[in-house]
Parts: sequence; C-alpha cells; structure tokens
Amino acid sequence: MTTSEQLFEQAKQVIPGGVNSPVRAFRAVGGTPLFIKSAKGPYIYDEDGKQYIELINSWGPMILGHAFEPVEEAVREAIQHSFSFGAPTRKEVEMAELIIDMVPSVEKVRMVNSGTEATMAAIRVARGFTGRDKIIKFEGCYHGHGDSFLIAAGSGAVTMGTPDSPGVTKATALDTLTAPYNNLQAVEMLIDNNANQIAAIILEPVVGNMGCVLPEPGFLEGIRTLCDQHGIILIFDEVMTGFRLAKGGAQERYGVTPDLTTMGKIIGGGMPVGAYGGRADIMNIVSPAGPVYQAGTLSGNPIAMSAGLAMLRHLNEHPEVYTRLDGIGGRLADGFRAGLVKAGLNYTINQIGSMFTLFMTDRSVSNFVDAKSCDLPLFGRYFHAMLKRGVYLAPSQFESLFVSVALTDDLIEQVIQANEESLMEAC
Ligand code: PLP
Repeated sequence: MTTSEQLFEQAKQVIPGGVNSPVRAFRAVGGTPLFIKSAKGPYIYDEDGKQYIELINSWGPMILGHAFEPVEEAVREAIQHSFSFGAPTRKEVEMAELIIDMVPSVEKVRMVNSGTEATMAAIRVARGFTGRDKIIKFEGCYHGHGDSFLIAAGSGAVTMGTPDSPGVTKATALDTLTAPYNNLQAVEMLIDNNANQIAAIILEPVVGNMGCVLPEPGFLEGIRTLCDQHGIILIFDEVMTGFRLAKGGAQERYGVTPDLTTMGKIIGGGMPVGAYGGRADIMNIVSPAGPVYQAGTLSGNPIAMSAGLAMLRHLNEHPEVYTRLDGIGGRLADGFRAGLVKAGLNYTINQIGSMFTLFMTDRSVSNFVDAKSCDLPLFGRYFHAMLKRGVYLAPSQFESLFVSVALTDDLIEQVIQANEESLMEAC
C-alpha cells in the first residue's frame, strides 16, 4: 500500500469522500489521489517522495512555479507582524492600486477570500445596481459553488455527474437562465423572453471549466453589445484567466471590456484570495459606500495580500513571462498534436497561451455538448498512463491544464514524449 492509499483510507473516515474539493478524489479517472507533501518549481512530490511534472499548478495559482522565491520572501516578512488584524492595512491599498493598474476596466475593487465569494458578491451587486433578479450563465461554465451557479455547471460539478446540485432551491434555480457557450442567438432569445428582468450576464471569457473552450470571433463583442442595449451588467469571471492570459486577463487579450470582473487564484500567489471590481459607479453601491452588503473577517488578510502582491508585482514588471507562457503552451499543443497524428487519432486540442485541453473527441469543441462528447473512459486510461510517466494532469476531462513558467525546454519535451506513449497505451 502506498502512503497516499493509506492516507486516503484514513481521510474517507473523517472527510466526505476523503477530500476537501470533489475533483481531487480522482473519481472520474479511478484510482487513489496522490497526497502531496511538497512542491518546488515545475515539480510536485507525493507523500512517498515520488516526483511529478506539474501541469495543474494548484488549478492555476502557481503560474511562476511552486515556492517562487519573491512570494516566499514576502510571506516570511509578513508573518513577523502577526497573521490577521481585521482592520485596514497599507497592503490592501497597494493591492487595489496594483489590480486597477493591471486591469484597466477595474476602477474600484473589493478583496474576498475565494473565487466563489467573488462571483457571489458580483451578482449581488449587479442585482442591487439594476433592481433586477435574473442572471444568464453559460452551460459548462463554472463560477464557484454559490447556489446561483450550480446550474449546468462545469468543472468538478460535471465531473461528479451533478451539474445541477441538489440543495439549490427551485426559486434560486429559476433566477439562473442558461445558454450554450458561443451561441449569441440563444442569449438574445433569453433576453427577449425575460425583458427588463436580467441583471447580469456572467461568463468565463475563455472557458477553463469544461476543458479549455475559446470564444468564437464576435461572441464576446456580441455579448457586450447585448448588455449595452438592454442595461445588463456584463461580468467576466476571470478567476482562471485573470493575470494568466495577459497581465490584464482575457479582457486585455480579446479587447472586450466588462462592467465587473471577478478574480481569484493567481491574485493570491497560492493563498486563499479572490476579488471583484469594475466600474466605479457600480462598485460604489457596495457597503459601506452604498447599501449592498458584503463583508469578510479575513478579507484582505495581510499574509495573503503580501503573497498576492509579490506575485502580481512580478507579473506586472516582467511582461516577458507572458511571451514565455505563450511559447510553452504553443509548443506543448504542437507536440500533443504531433502525438495524435502518430497515434492515428483525430482528437481536438484547444489552446490559448498557457491554458489547453486535449479533448478525446473528433468534434471541434466550442460548447458543453461538444465537451461532453469525449470518450471519458479513454481519458481515464490516458490520465493514468501520463501519471505513470511522471506527469501530473488534472484528473478530469472537464478541466484545462495550467502551464507554469517554470517548465523548462527539457521538461516540455518529456511531457510531449509522455503524451505520445500514453496515447498509444490508452487507445
Ligand atoms: N470562477 C472560475 C472561472 C473558476 O475556475 C473557479 C474555480 O475553479 C471559481 C470561480 C471558484 O473559485 P474558488 O474555487 O476559489 O472558490
């Protein structure tokens, strides 16, 4: 028995399903999750000391590789002054200023503790601002585990077979309307059928949570126009894409400006942080500036702010990181495509910058239905073949891989080789 197997047995006695976030349980791919002891740079190490090349990177945050020295140093410095005050600090001001500098659509910003909190707060603010109740989300997009979003949800929710979670009241579900991603007509119809009732449209401007799915040309622009025409707040959920696809996120890359943006993951440098922000006239209705209530005991926590600031400062001051990430993502995607050709397979790879997914389907993948056409048992076999070769992938077909800048040329070649062999083994 491996140490991970022992720990998983122990964990299942005391934690539901043995994990603190469902997708970690390897349910979709079978087998035992690795219990992780440490990580450094491009590598992660399990409790048995086995080394793996990282392509999850904590589901996004570790974009500069694990234990990045400036972040470590910032945390070491911060803990000398205690861990939490529940009072305003200089670092929160610096963080807000830096976010506003990096993401120009954000004029005011509020820090929270997770991506889920950020999206929950953003739709409350949109509802408060417009006086309307309904929201539109897209099938297969995941916006955290707030009740309003567990409707046709991607990521772990679809991996577990529960895109519509029990426990969400019918009344809440009625206020969440869904449309297929990349389908402007469907959105137009929803707006027409619910005239003056839609507070917000929320979407991942590049989806990571049904695997990586790109917006088709004109889709984001079309949504922006519809929002303008109908007084709807446009929320880009950039929890995954923010500070990853560009320093200003997907909105910078695609040149489309939302009214509100939700952020998470990278913004905390690995600590539990989220944020939401946007137009000042909208954000000024947030308490105590305005009546829409939202709060947090640990929001703006000084240790988390220090880690996040060190991370964002580095990204802001080193634009070459993004060139390098685009290069790594492109090389991996090309290498994976070559592997598919060698194996005689016609599967689909979607990639943008440092996000990509190999979909086990012949269809091109531009929405949830396409993503769900994948051969999931094959993905499971492929996942374990990669793991055996020392490559740590997301344990679900409905996830994007997240490349870090720590991936060296040699490691890229190793991953490409492992992909080729794993495809042969799994098919
Ligand atoms: N929004 C998106 C796009 C996400 O990918 C996630 C998490 O993966 C969330 C929101 C929720 O963030 P958290 O897990 O920090 O609550």
